[in-house]
Amino acid sequence: APRTATLRARAEIDLAALRANVRTLRAHAPGAALMAVVKSEAYGHGAVPCARAAVAAGASWLGTATPEEALALRAAGLPGRIMCWLWTPGGPWREAIEADLDVSVGGMWALEEVTRAARGADRPARVQLKADTGLGRGGCPPGDWADLVRAALRAESEGLLRVTGLWSHFACADEPGHPSIAAQLDRFREMVAHAERQGVRPEVRHIANSPATLTLPESHFDLVRTGIATYGISPSPELGTPADFGLRPVMTLSASLALVKQVPGGHGVSYGHRYVTPGETTLGLVPLGYADGIPRHASSAGPVLVEGKWRTIAGRVAMDQFVVDLGGDAPAPGAEAVLFGPGDRGEPTAEDWAQAAGTIAYEIVTRIGTRVPRVYV
Ligand code: PLP
Repeated sequence: APRTATLRARAEIDLAALRANVRTLRAHAPGAALMAVVKSEAYGHGAVPCARAAVAAGASWLGTATPEEALALRAAGLPGRIMCWLWTPGGPWREAIEADLDVSVGGMWALEEVTRAARGADRPARVQLKADTGLGRGGCPPGDWADLVRAALRAESEGLLRVTGLWSHFACADEPGHPSIAAQLDRFREMVAHAERQGVRPEVRHIANSPATLTLPESHFDLVRTGIATYGISPSPELGTPADFGLRPVMTLSASLALVKQVPGGHGVSYGHRYVTPGETTLGLVPLGYADGIPRHASSAGPVLVEGKWRTIAGRVAMDQFVVDLGGDAPAPGAEAVLFGPGDRGEPTAEDWAQAAGTIAYEIVTRIGTRVPRVYV
């Protein structure tokens, strides 16, 4: 019996699969370094163990959204380059500088704050200037770029910072052929060329996320930033399956049935009685609910593998539990219900859940809650 059998539920994290995915992704972008994006607890897989595994497999950079996430990696002893990009005014610039983080700066307020923090620090800040080449989210728009570059070079000449990178992010890399892709690449090249003409000497220029890493070699530049693909999930089902790219899903989510019971036909199931048993049957209780990240939108739709058969959620997902109709099968209480995994034992995948809930697989894995233990295998 697996050593996890006594747990209510568990998310098994296959670190060997993660390491293999990192090697595969490096082979997709052979001329570039690889940044493993481990924000949001490594997309729900656990930041520190996944970061360590990614580095062991050849990721020379780690990326997070918030500075707090990046500082936590450093505090856990991760060496090497760590970059974070989601800053708000008053953020921990000084701590970031002293922890040797690479910080993203996409506007004047951030450049002013990092420069001020660097005056009191014992070393220059490592700053990566972020260009908004068309995503229309973070980053410096083309019209403000010259001013930002000029101010960064002035601070660099005072020894307060080093511009270590020039970077951007795609809007539609998961839709090959979308006209915004070529437009963003052109604008990125122009903005990089402008900065370099002014005297910026970046160590890395980068724009590629997972879909661009997998499908757009001309976007790889010096570094690719892979999040979802690191965890073995395809950025979009239209692009292909994980196996099409040589990737393997890392997370398997399963639970032990908390109850198995016979009920007559016409029995209303779970809140609102959205499911009524069509005849005498067996119900199984899966002890995971929306508080654990099981989408309530997957009510009456989410698939679960129990004793070799796919079963569908019967009625509504509750906060901590949901019911499946076992159609007369009678597994023992404690029998394993697999919600998703790589799929090769016949179980559904995170992508199947995304489809059942009308969302993307990114949201399925990142939302698995802290009440579900991660078991590293
Ligand atoms: N780069 C940045 C700036 C991001 O915000 C993200 C995640 O959304 C990534 C890279 C990784 O994206 P993906 O998970 O599609 O590889």
